[in-house]
Amino acid sequence: MDVTVVGSGPNGLAAAVTCARAGLSVRVIEAQPTPGGGARSAPDPEYPGVIHDVCSAVHPLAYASPFFRAFGLADRVTLNVPEISYANPLPGRPAALAYHDFERTCAELTDEASWRWLLGPMVQRSDAATAFVLGDK
Ligand SMILES: Cc1cc2nc3c(=O)[nH]c(=O)nc-3n(C[C@H](O)[C@H](O)[C@H](O)COP(=O)(O)OP(=O)(O)OC[C@H]3O[C@@H](n4cnc5c(N)ncnc54)[C@H](O)[C@@H]3O)c2cc1C
Repeated sequence: MDVTVVGSGPNGLAAAVTCARAGLSVRVIEAQPTPGGGARSAPDPEYPGVIHDVCSAVHPLAYASPFFRAFGLADRVTLNVPEISYANPLPGRPAALAYHDFERTCAELTDEASWRWLLGPMVQRSDAATAFVLGDK
């Protein structure tokens, strides 16, 4: 065995795939009963038949990631993209909802214009923002 990767979360599996693609023999050791680390889903212990994300649930950069692009994720895995990506409950007020649609998200938030001003440039120039966040330069 050339390489042992400890942990089968997204980073461990990315490392394992990278090593395997380089021609190395790889084994992945995982302490939990199922692989995936924080990105895995598991049956809910209290509600039989319900499977939910144990940790991370929203992956807006998955298809944009240089690693996953090279891995061909979009051809291998279909990610569910719900209309509402997530919601932030607020005490005594309606929850803040993050829609897949940026304009709709801003339109329902207090200080709509401020959110559009803050996040709009990153949406309009998402390729540049993604390269900055996920790049190594
Ligand atoms: C509550 C929460 C919500 C999140 N939500 C999001 C989200 O919505 N979107 C998003 O993109 N990111 C989210 N994240 C972040 C995301 O989960 C992490 O960035 C990602 O899981 C990190 O991957 P990783 O491979 O580095 O580590 P992990 O996913 O933590 O994987 C590490 C793995 O190593 C195993 N391990 C550790 N030590 C050993 C050992 N000694 N022997 C064997 N196995 C071992 C663990 O069991 C685990 O499976 C969230 C994180 C948290 C905590």
